Amino acid sequence: MGKITRRDFINGTLMAAGATMLPIGCTSDAVLDALNPLYYPPSLTGLRGSHPGSNTHSHARAWSNKSDWGATTELKETYDLVVVGGGISGLAAAYFYQQKHGKDKKVLILDNHDDFGGHAKRNEHTVDGQLRIGYGGSQTIVEPKHGSKNVHALLKDIGVDIERFNTAYDKDFYKRNNLGAVTYFNKEKFGEDKVVKHPYCNYPNYVEGIVMGGKLSNEEAAQQAPLSEKGKEQLLRVLNGGLHKLNIPEHKLEDYINSNSYFDYLEKTLGVDDPGVLRMARNSGLDWALTGTDLMTIGTAKNVGALGFVPKKVYDEENPYIYHFPDGNAGIARALVKKMIPSVAKGKNAEELVMSVFKYAELDKSSNTLRIRLSSTVVDVKHSGDPKNSEEVLVNYIKENKSYQVKGKNVVMACYNMMIPHIVSGLPEEQAAALSLQSKCHLMDFPVSIGGYEYTKTPDDPCIIQMISCPYGDTMGAPALEQYREARYKMLGLQFKDYENEIRVHLSGMLPKELFDFDKDVESITVNRWAHGYTVGGPGDSVLVGRQPFGRITIANCDSAPAADAKAAIDMALRAVNELG
Ligand SMILES: Cc1cc2nc3c(=O)[nH]c(=O)nc-3n(C[C@H](O)[C@H](O)[C@H](O)COP(=O)(O)OP(=O)(O)OC[C@H]3O[C@@H](n4cnc5c(N)ncnc54)[C@H](O)[C@@H]3O)c2cc1C
Repeated sequence: MGKITRRDFINGTLMAAGATMLPIGCTSDAVLDALNPLYYPPSLTGLRGSHPGSNTHSHARAWSNKSDWGATTELKETYDLVVVGGGISGLAAAYFYQQKHGKDKKVLILDNHDDFGGHAKRNEHTVDGQLRIGYGGSQTIVEPKHGSKNVHALLKDIGVDIERFNTAYDKDFYKRNNLGAVTYFNKEKFGEDKVVKHPYCNYPNYVEGIVMGGKLSNEEAAQQAPLSEKGKEQLLRVLNGGLHKLNIPEHKLEDYINSNSYFDYLEKTLGVDDPGVLRMARNSGLDWALTGTDLMTIGTAKNVGALGFVPKKVYDEENPYIYHFPDGNAGIARALVKKMIPSVAKGKNAEELVMSVFKYAELDKSSNTLRIRLSSTVVDVKHSGDPKNSEEVLVNYIKENKSYQVKGKNVVMACYNMMIPHIVSGLPEEQAAALSLQSKCHLMDFPVSIGGYEYTKTPDDPCIIQMISCPYGDTMGAPALEQYREARYKMLGLQFKDYENEIRVHLSGMLPKELFDFDKDVESITVNRWAHGYTVGGPGDSVLVGRQPFGRITIANCDSAPAADAKAAIDMALRAVNELG
């Protein structure tokens, strides 16, 4: 049996084990109480992130306005608070609510995924008996020292010690092992597989401790790039370029670079027309820039360290890029869950939880004051009467293709904000319109040893290779929202085998053939596919208009900040809880 089949088989079996355990016609109380104790989504491989099936009901609601979900089972469950969305914001909302109103308050969190954490998910791989932990989306606590006092208080209370990363993260690892940044050109796009010891853009800034610049001079880097002679000459022009090439007086420069396009600068000021150089330039903005550089001003391209601008440290001295748990910000999500459901895992603080195997069967126990119900997509949220004086909110969700209803005295919508108008009935028109304008772009190992977990130290030990892809639309220069949509549909249309094949081609192309054999050396693959990734927000004041409280319903999620940042997700949770009164 080939490797691909085995990987799919493992994935398929575990998923089925979770599903076949569920007795037909039981209420949800029984469902998760009876869940297979072996159910452990972090160890699932294959297509994860927005895993297959996770968005089916949301898409049916949003795309076809589906409202007939069959007979609804009205559960005898009433909560003080129902939270829609089990990402960091939803978990934090539950935490803040119980802090404010008492730990005896009953809270239910509903999430459409088969694991909690939203973008902050954990991946596990076991190779030759060794556990390797990775992150399935959100990787790091960004600039924690800039966090609000509420964020710091929450982190402290759930046992996250920010200072611990100063020693947990091995800052000298790259220097000690003489590891620097390189660029891989692939045969499909550049005619040959080639690795050049130069980053050409700012990506090393993601890896604290790695040598920022290339090992080659600009001349050597341009010469070694697999481009035509004309392309090499133009690439060198870009690498040696910069603001000094603009014939603009000093006092007008700032305005100029913030209102003129980077691609115009490449084409008109530097005379670049080589498709290979333009391709390199378009992809040099990296994921956190949200779009390709074809949509950037010169100023933005400079800030993100795009092709031709010196790679720079984005993170300040006080906030080095070291605040990663081995499972990224899943470390925060897990610590929040442990705080509210103590029986879920062993460990006194976030560090001790790193190696802890969570008991998912504890999440939705009827004896809990805080319950987390997974694989449950909320499709309708409505006040039982006039929103101004209604006493309760009815929350309908779909689980296993069956429709259920619970009641909440209050609801926090911590899900994607643009979904809210499709779910919450009776929203004022202006608010619904503003929420519809909110958008997200799509997204597809750090040397940290903590909590008994040791990162991979030698080439002989198994390691996780993290590969990141941020697809753009096919048409350079097309508006961002169009490009996001195009790339999102492209992503959702790909199957695991498509991703696996691309990974095979890339790794086989960049690693020496005599040292690497994909079928022998790759044990397992997890594709963390985020079709709805970084929050982008909406135009004008649409974020503020959209996040207004509506009767007993308030709105959290980092979309309501908007900022693709765990600190913002926490701050927004507190605001939403406080707005409930
Ligand atoms: C790939 C990636 C990398 C990132 N890296 C970082 C990083 O390093 N550091 C950082 O600070 N931030 C990072 N972010 C940003 C991240 O979005 C935020 O930090 C934060 O995790 C968002 O939390 P949230 O709870 O607001 O939203 P989410 O994590 O999106 O959680 C919302 C949850 O609601 C669920 N939901 C949606 N609709 C429904 C419904 N109808 N019913 C039930 N549930 C629903 C969603 O599926 C999701 O699980 C990253 C994001 C992505 C996608």
